[in-house]
Amino acid sequence: MNTRKITGIVIHCAATPNGRWHDVFDIDKWHQERGFKRSDEFRRQFNPRLLAIGYHFIIYTNGAVATGRSLSEIGAHAQGFNSRSLGVCLIGTDKFTIEQWDSLRDNVRASLKLYPEARIVGHRDLPNVHKECPGFDVKDWLENDMRPRPGRILEQAA
Ligand SMILES: [Zn+2]
Repeated sequence: MNTRKITGIVIHCAATPNGRWHDVFDIDKWHQERGFKRSDEFRRQFNPRLLAIGYHFIIYTNGAVATGRSLSEIGAHAQGFNSRSLGVCLIGTDKFTIEQWDSLRDNVRASLKLYPEARIVGHRDLPNVHKECPGFDVKDWLENDMRPRPGRILEQAA
């Protein structure tokens, strides 16, 4: 299935209230509204109920990880960088639960095993991105051994 060359892993946030529960079908609906669309061919192979979602992984407030597009499917999450990247989205805006942080670390490490040459960046680290997504400094998180700074930890989910 790993037919695509992946050189980047792009971390996003959903820009939803910190700690509020949302699932992959909410994001799919929002991405439908933004005009995203998955191809019928990929939908037949993977997550057929998801019509639009642009991300590959979605990390819920309880730490569960949902899949969106398949790894071999080009995402819709980082303009100009989709063809060679994966998109990972944390539910929330700029504070995430410990469970989410643990899952993000494990998810990124698993992707690095498949794509050792991939660079890990935050959405806002890409050129011409004028938003705060993913709400934290990915470079600092990497330098801190993929551990969050205390101010970025949400104590309890809403
Ligand atoms: Zn983003």
